[in-house]
Amino acid sequence: MFYQDLKHFKSTSGYEIDGIWYPRVTSIISIKAKPALYKFYADQVNFAAGEKVKTLSAEEGTLLHETVEAILGGKDIVIPENIKPAVKAFTDFKNQNEVIPHQMETRIISKNHWYAGTIDVLAELNGRLGVLDIKTSYAIYRDYGIQTAAYVEALQESGTPPLVRWILRIDQAKQCLRCPAKLREKGGNIKIRGGKQDCQHVWGPTMGEIELRELEGFNDDMKAFLACKHLWEWEHKYWLDKIKL
Ligand SMILES: [Zn+2]
Repeated sequence: MFYQDLKHFKSTSGYEIDGIWYPRVTSIISIKAKPALYKFYADQVNFAAGEKVKTLSAEEGTLLHETVEAILGGKDIVIPENIKPAVKAFTDFKNQNEVIPHQMETRIISKNHWYAGTIDVLAELNGRLGVLDIKTSYAIYRDYGIQTAAYVEALQESGTPPLVRWILRIDQAKQCLRCPAKLREKGGNIKIRGGKQDCQHVWGPTMGEIELRELEGFNDDMKAFLACKHLWEWEHKYWLDKIKL
């Protein structure tokens, strides 16, 4: 990424908290290559079209995050039509499990390791306290372990007892009525996965999907996060040297 000046670098890569600038967890982990992204861009008409899909898809993800967090917070809200199936999957999950939110969209800081971030939800889920990270992706990727380890480390640094890490993946898709294929629409991009190649798909209604996974291997994930941070600092040495002056 190109930065116009120090102000631009600081605003896009971190937070200023109590007069101290900290790099953001999501900026740090973006240093890790994501080979699946090459395939995504290769499937697009051109790079600009791919960027548009990514932006729209991120906006849809943000909308689902905000809606789910409003529901968790007990707010009475109008659910946007385009995410209704996914939200229904979430409310079903909420009714079948005991979820007590303690904090939402909370800023976390690690002074020991010099980074900051924002957690989705700190919650008690069926009697255990942990970080619940909401994802609107097609699958649960190992990279999420790196991000959530950084959050848990920062919370524990400030005295929170050991925390569980959960990924709650919420999505929606149409299922073929003739084969196991699924159709997803994200940011205007239609993707069909699985099923039979020669099937003349007949799509059923859009259905919500929900998947909860508890992440194991905190120490290993934290090591991977610190390795990302080391590389990220190396990559951005030019700007970081100006900040540390
Ligand atoms: Zn089919």
